[in-house]
Amino acid sequence: MKKLALHWQILLGMVFGVLFAVVLIQFEWGKQFITNWIKPFGNIFINLLKLIAVPLILASLIKGVSDLKDISKLSKMGGRTIGLYLMTTVLAVSIGLVIVNIVKPGSYISKETRQELVDGYASDANSKIASAEKQKEAGPLQALEDIVPSNIIGASADNGNMLQVIFFAVFFGIALILIPQEIGAPVKAFFDGFNEVILKMIDIIMLAAPFGVFALLAALVAESPSLDLFQALAVYGLCVVGGLIIMIGVYILIVYIFTKRTPSFFLNGISPAQLLAFSTSSSAATLPVTMERVVDNLGVDDEVASFVLPIGATINMDGTSLYQAVAAVFIAQAFGTPLTLGVQLGIIATATLASIGSAAVPGAGMVMLVIVLAQAGIPEAGLALIFAIDRPLDMCRTTVNVTGDAAVSMVVAKSVDKLT
Ligand code: ASP
Repeated sequence: MKKLALHWQILLGMVFGVLFAVVLIQFEWGKQFITNWIKPFGNIFINLLKLIAVPLILASLIKGVSDLKDISKLSKMGGRTIGLYLMTTVLAVSIGLVIVNIVKPGSYISKETRQELVDGYASDANSKIASAEKQKEAGPLQALEDIVPSNIIGASADNGNMLQVIFFAVFFGIALILIPQEIGAPVKAFFDGFNEVILKMIDIIMLAAPFGVFALLAALVAESPSLDLFQALAVYGLCVVGGLIIMIGVYILIVYIFTKRTPSFFLNGISPAQLLAFSTSSSAATLPVTMERVVDNLGVDDEVASFVLPIGATINMDGTSLYQAVAAVFIAQAFGTPLTLGVQLGIIATATLASIGSAAVPGAGMVMLVIVLAQAGIPEAGLALIFAIDRPLDMCRTTVNVTGDAAVSMVVAKSVDKLT
């Protein structure tokens, strides 16, 4: 029998999880059975995702930063590339924040459901209160001070300190570029290999995704007192997709303004890469096709494409950052965690960094969401809430990630006169 593609397996896991729970809760013992015997597997799956977060940031950022070595050679192109990537990412996060604040998908969850969520994750709620209290005492430069760790093991052991891990990784990567190549080479080779191992671990974890999703959805249905949670999830999903569609519009506009290429030219050229991104949920897996389409169909010079696109696949994830912002605020709304304007501005920074640190593989964006949640004091248990519909959203955000890379490569090519 031919193996079903992972995204179909996951969709089936979702459907069976819901059906299983709907049938079982008809029995008196059903709910208890799911809580005792099914839900733990969902929790294990979430734990696995969280387990991989710190090594993932270390490996992919050290590799990403030290790969930027070429920037010194191609400083002009490098500066424009990074600048455009950052600008589009910040724009994407901002669009996501505006939408989720206007639509408020979390408000579709009734008071009772919210109370159950909070009670169910009491320990998380307590740590949230503790960190909120700490925040209250903080001075104006506390956030800056908190970025710099005094102990890297301590920073890695504390999920709330992902930014410190990022700081260490970027610092390490820069120093690695600055030492003589012959000394740095084995270190770089080690981290390249380490990165591969981590990506493989994510691959393996994703094999369990259909079962993880089954367990999570069954638990969600069994423990949710009403259907309002699903309504809220649907509205949340629409917020993400709506934001992503706006981003595609933004790319079309940017390409038209800077290169005078029409929307149909751009979309026709890039659509095979978009479809591949949609079905694989991986910018990295799509990269060869993105390169080919951008060079052959969009007229970008090979030299520009081979510099701009691999970096883009690693660090430019506009769809992912938009999704992370919407997801974080949605979870906060669902748990009733108030988010001040300051915290929301902080989300712009952390979602930008988290998307840069996300590996270009399925599900990575959700793993890195932990950073955004931890930094904003939002209960991490909320991951369980959104996991149910993460895969379809991953497919959509990866499509946007790849489209963004292609658009920026055209603008950069035009700016250095390498667009035909
Ligand atoms: N799957 C995405 C990508 O490869 C990353 C993510 O999970 O958001 O671009």
